[in-house]
Amino acid sequence: MKKLFSKSKVAIVTGGNQGIGFGISKCLLEKGFKVAIFGRDQKGMDEAIKKMVKMKFEKSNIFAVICDVSSEENWEKGVNEVMKKWGKINALVNNAGILVQKPISETTMEDMEKVLHTNLIGSFFGIKICSKKMKKGSAIVNIASVAGLKGFSNLSAYCSSKFGLVGLTKVAALELAEKGIRVNAVCPGLIDTPMTKDVMSQKAVKEAYLNSIPLHRAGTPEDIGHMVALLADENSSSYCTGGVYVVDGGMIA
Ligand code: NDP
Repeated sequence: MKKLFSKSKVAIVTGGNQGIGFGISKCLLEKGFKVAIFGRDQKGMDEAIKKMVKMKFEKSNIFAVICDVSSEENWEKGVNEVMKKWGKINALVNNAGILVQKPISETTMEDMEKVLHTNLIGSFFGIKICSKKMKKGSAIVNIASVAGLKGFSNLSAYCSSKFGLVGLTKVAALELAEKGIRVNAVCPGLIDTPMTKDVMSQKAVKEAYLNSIPLHRAGTPEDIGHMVALLADENSSSYCTGGVYVVDGGMIA
């Protein structure tokens, strides 16, 4: 018998258990999406779901899927699980990412490979595998960074991965346009998350950063989530593809 799936849209958010990914998941749930959180840490994802339920989101609209984004095999398995559960994928948000902060002279091949494999190749796997299941009107949003548009000292691996992700976004937008799938990148500036806790917890360092931001504050995960929800939704951004949206309080203006 043919299975009946609900009409609401389905999104995958990688690294959705904390930080920006959590903010994105929340904003997508508010827009009426069902959200599959892809992550490595079952306990972290269970805790995130508990938090979302406390915020009054329906537990049945959230699904935790174990997936290390740097593994193509994990991606295949995770996407199949979502298809089995909800029967479709309307949006993919490639958010999972890691940061290594070292001068080039100290950056090892392992550092370079780890960062590129997670931030860039992980997103490539997501685009390749999800786009095969996506229909006209679907959207992919890649979370790059202002470090994908401008160089920052001590971030050689990270900047390389994020510049690469901006390039990948544009190529995917060109190739997937004929299928009616839109692909955009969001470039956050300084956002208050576990990734930036070193910056945010040192008064002098934090102040120096804030002085470089015209709006003089760090962004919140929801600042990014609102932009992603707009780009993920065909009703609000049907003519946007191949775009790069900076959300940085004016940092690189
Ligand atoms: P966090 O470190 O708080 O969260 C990163 C998330 O990615 C975690 O859930 C982590 O899961 C997940 N993750 C990392 N590696 C993998 C992997 N191999 N497979 C699956 N999940 C993985 O970072 P943010 O929320 O700050 O960052 C989110 C994205 O935004 C990143 O791509 C980052 O580069 C980008 N960004 C962040 C900025 C900021 O100021 N915070 C600025 C610009 C861009 P786990 O618990 O398993 O580690």
